[in-house]
Amino acid sequence: MNNEKKLWLKPMIKAHKLGVLNKFAYGTKKEFINDLEGREVNDLISEYGSPLFVLSESKLRQNVKRLMSAFKMRYPKVIYGWSYKTNYLSSVCNILHQEGAWAEVVSQFEYEKARQQGVPAEHILFNGLNKNIEILKRAVLEGARIHLDNLDEFYLLDSITKDTKKNIKVAMRLNFDTGFSEPWSRFGFNVENGQALDMAYKIANSDYLELSGLHSHIGTFVLDLRAYEAQMKIMCDFMHSIEYETDCVIDCIDIGGGFASKNSLQGSYLTPDQVSPEIEQYAQIICDTLINETKNRIAQGKPEITLIIESGRAIVDDAFHLITSVVSNKRLKDGRASLVVDAGVNILFTSFWYNHPISLTNSPRGVSEDTIIYGPLCMNIDVVRTHVNLPPLKIGDSLIISHVGAYNLTQSMQFIEYRPNVVMLHEEKSKVSLIKKGDDLHDMTRNEYLPEHLMINNASSTSSVDLIKDHSNISILKQSSVVSFV
Ligand SMILES: *Cc1c(COP(=O)(O)O)cnc(C)c1O
Repeated sequence: MNNEKKLWLKPMIKAHKLGVLNKFAYGTKKEFINDLEGREVNDLISEYGSPLFVLSESKLRQNVKRLMSAFKMRYPKVIYGWSYKTNYLSSVCNILHQEGAWAEVVSQFEYEKARQQGVPAEHILFNGLNKNIEILKRAVLEGARIHLDNLDEFYLLDSITKDTKKNIKVAMRLNFDTGFSEPWSRFGFNVENGQALDMAYKIANSDYLELSGLHSHIGTFVLDLRAYEAQMKIMCDFMHSIEYETDCVIDCIDIGGGFASKNSLQGSYLTPDQVSPEIEQYAQIICDTLINETKNRIAQGKPEITLIIESGRAIVDDAFHLITSVVSNKRLKDGRASLVVDAGVNILFTSFWYNHPISLTNSPRGVSEDTIIYGPLCMNIDVVRTHVNLPPLKIGDSLIISHVGAYNLTQSMQFIEYRPNVVMLHEEKSKVSLIKKGDDLHDMTRNEYLPEHLMINNASSTSSVDLIKDHSNISILKQSSVVSFV
């Protein structure tokens, strides 16, 4: 018998509101999830706190295996590069590297992190628009695969290779209009206006650089498969023309990422299952087009193309959940129900664009109604969800927000609140590990230095004492006399 006291709800009459349901109208939520792969949500909260990010090792491995086999069975010469910026938690990267992924990095930090994870430089695809001389030199010497983004970078790379007298193969990033995706002309060299061809000539005339690869990344959450067909055609056409115009020989085509995950883009009328293509559909159109566009290459004595894919969000999004707890309930002036939860846009940046699946963790009590979910920040934009049909919830009840693995942890910011713990559910049942500790006061202040005249000797303030302890190597702080607060 369940002796729990029933929740009392004040009776009220509510007008039906148009526009909050799609045509697959749903009624009161009945289903709930109180465990994640056999681990009780309440136990996870008591052990690791709330909010809490939860990674499913098995889901992540399944996703990457599915991607690789979808491509490999259609086109065997394929390499998968993990897009670090999508989620660079060490555990995530290493699971993917164990499954055979290379690293796709876009900055000095990401390059250094990939090397620290043990990725050999030859397995690093170095994209990005801000490769400084120091990291570019390292990438050249170590033999990473550099993807040129702009003319200034070309001159820098040219001078580095002249200094080091090192011959290197490079790829260049292209941008163009597929007609089915947003043309991002700020990245790479434009094909339509001849900029890309100019660059190919420049590389051909350089002393130490050899153009051997083409790269492009046409967008993110690209739902229209025709965009990938057009992308591949444009890249292959460009390849044929530069191979004809210059003496370069292209051996790899990198099509970037952009495959949609099963999140719902805000404003989308249909459900993700209806609009997001399956990985196999992306693989089919990409591989078919590549095979078709390159079928005469071998006969012409040219190398078979290696296909590189850099899918980020489609691999990691549904491998993460965010557990969050209700902090307070409020009825807004217009009668709408609202909730404040302990996870805000500071850690769930993608809630600006996507409606993540939200699940109850208890059987629902009462009638569901359209609810707005706010985060805990003292900031008006902190809205986790503008419309979701939820039953009344009590303080301390938890919710599971799903499909949060892409771009939330990497873009999360320390603002007002501490960032939470991240745990991993092992494939091995019942095993859970902390894979990133949440912030504490020490983390927040460890990089700060307090000039001597700002130190305050106040019993209730421990900051100066902490600073002296934490930075005992900084003699100025240690020796200084501490000013008292009067
Ligand atoms: C961000 C990025 C990716 C990954 O994109 P998704 O949309 O997450 O698949 C791949 N390649 C490059 C160059 C990127 O900048």
